[in-house]
Amino acid sequence: MDIADLRDRILKQERRALARAITLVESAREDHRAQASALLESLRGAGRQALRVGLSGTPGVGKSTFIESFGMMLTGQGLRVAVLAVDPSSARSGGSILGDKTRMERLSRDKNAFIRPSPSQTHLGGVARRTREAVALCEAAGFDVVLIETVGVGQSETVVSEMSDLFLLLLAPAGGDELQGVKRGIMEMADVILVNKADGALKTTAMRTCADYAGALRLLRKRPQDPKGFPKAMTVSALEEEGLMTAWKEINTLTEWRKEEGHWTARRAAQAQFWFHEEVRQGLLARLHKAQARKDLQLLDEKVASGVITPSQAAQEMLARLA
Ligand code: GDP
Repeated sequence: MDIADLRDRILKQERRALARAITLVESAREDHRAQASALLESLRGAGRQALRVGLSGTPGVGKSTFIESFGMMLTGQGLRVAVLAVDPSSARSGGSILGDKTRMERLSRDKNAFIRPSPSQTHLGGVARRTREAVALCEAAGFDVVLIETVGVGQSETVVSEMSDLFLLLLAPAGGDELQGVKRGIMEMADVILVNKADGALKTTAMRTCADYAGALRLLRKRPQDPKGFPKAMTVSALEEEGLMTAWKEINTLTEWRKEEGHWTARRAAQAQFWFHEEVRQGLLARLHKAQARKDLQLLDEKVASGVITPSQAAQEMLARLA
């Protein structure tokens, strides 16, 4: 593959080149990995810094509907929008719900939009790295907004929040008791909570739910990266395209404030370090699973069990062998 050519075509904002490049970074083949690294390196600092928006919500809450309406609104303003997904189910089973081709049909036909389902990988670490690299490629290809979507089931939110500039949590209207269903950790990641389906018969419930979440947000510890009034909860209707413009304005207010105050750059720097450490950890774990290491581990295990060596001595010996 001609990497220089691919690079040029990405910089010319060719969507097909972008799709090809993402396929390259998703590949586990050694030679592809090397090419992907070379490509990413050659694109570093090129293109623009997109606004990376993380979006999470449980199945059925209206993520695809929201992304489609919200995305169409943004492209309607002349912005270029990329949609990527981190799908923990694809990490487990190889089948992806977020990869469903029928989703976001209108947006996928928009020439200012680019939609890419989650890569099928065997573990979340692999999905995380590939999505991160895909984000970088979308930025190089001149996208203004990169939406990174995930299903709300635990760990994948952390992954998405660690690669986003801000995090949206999409929720459904619910009775008071169901508020407990959102884990505190996920609430703490949210910059804006959007209570969707605020239309028709659900409107009143949505407004009540929104007020409840606004109250819950006020109880959270104050974060230095928030201006007054954030994090905030608002109602939207993805279906009737209500409240989307207001949500976008709030996102911009938050972004501008963070940029002015230096939080935006600081967050990206901290995220880069997070991923550096994460890759080191993954790399060490991979070494630990190699055949020789497994044998070493087993031998040391026996010595630890019989008391010939202390656990910490054994650990030091093992780590020395891994180096
Ligand atoms: P996802 O699983 O989170 O991607 O959810 P979908 O976007 O597929 O939506 C699930 C269901 O909720 C579909 O039947 C949608 O039509 C419906 N839905 C999505 N957004 C809204 C909304 O704003 N109002 C109403 N009333 N229904 C919605």
